Amino acid sequence: MPSEAIKHTPAVAATRLAPSPTGALHLGNARTFLVNWALARQRNWRIVLRIEDLDTPRNKPGAIDQALRDLEWLGIDWDGSPIIQSNDLNHHRAAMASLAQRGLAYPCELTRAQIEAAASAPQDGGGHELRFPPELRPAVMPRPFDQPNTGWRFVTPDRAVAFNDDFAGPQTLRPIDTIGDFIVWTVRQQPAYQLAVVVDDARQGITHIVRGDDLLESAARQLLLYEALSLGALPRYCHLPLVKGEDGRRLAKRHGDTRLSRYRDLGVAPERMVGLMAFWCGIIPARTPLSSSEFRERFDLATMPRLPVTFTPEDDAWLLNRS
Ligand code: GLU
Repeated sequence: MPSEAIKHTPAVAATRLAPSPTGALHLGNARTFLVNWALARQRNWRIVLRIEDLDTPRNKPGAIDQALRDLEWLGIDWDGSPIIQSNDLNHHRAAMASLAQRGLAYPCELTRAQIEAAASAPQDGGGHELRFPPELRPAVMPRPFDQPNTGWRFVTPDRAVAFNDDFAGPQTLRPIDTIGDFIVWTVRQQPAYQLAVVVDDARQGITHIVRGDDLLESAARQLLLYEALSLGALPRYCHLPLVKGEDGRRLAKRHGDTRLSRYRDLGVAPERMVGLMAFWCGIIPARTPLSSSEFRERFDLATMPRLPVTFTPEDDAWLLNRS
């Protein structure tokens, strides 16, 4: 099973910045991306920029260009051309076919209401994700991967997944208890997030995944897929606390307009934005303008605050001082 015992020995270390064009980048994304970038440049990891555009109905026109401009404005660079996830789905299809062939995934047409009705245990999937109980698996597997209008679920094994997160520390998670059998292929006949990210990370040689800790629980599912698909050396994970509003909820529209493009359009200097991020990351004791190269030099994961950051009206006012 995935564990620290499995080797992490790829030839070149690499990470990825993986924005989704489902909305504009905001202050929370800026912090995660700056930390990811600074770590990569400090440690000589290659940086892949991967646009995760598979959630097609939620994609917003113009969001890709805007994300690229936001990153450049922050002083973040990457290696090679951006990769658009939807451009090549052959590898995802092959991975899915392999799971299906080996009875490790099955087509599922049950609706949310049917799953809720059949659930034998209280729902503890967290957020709005519904646990899919293994009792609802079809009696006959494997099934051919040729059904036009169904999503597919992964046969989640009944065991724990352990890994040592580089920021959040040792984790032992049991996806079978929290999420059950999860979707790997959507009704729209596209790879679902969990499968897409694993196939791409493995193919692109990603060794270090740095992202918000809203995805910590997903890492366990992703490690199960690495193993089921025999994808080789496992990546290391580094899950960072999110930026929250004063109500303790993750940054969203209700906390005002925190899009990077808004500050950019208002003429806020990028050094001011980077300075706020540096303050939030414990690099400087008070908000002070800082260049991205200074951020890169001075960032230290070991002294980064372990609690979520709260975005306050003082932060916004400081940014809007502009120059
Ligand atoms: N594209 C995802 C997002 O914007 C990130 C996925 C990941 O880092 O694994 O939330």
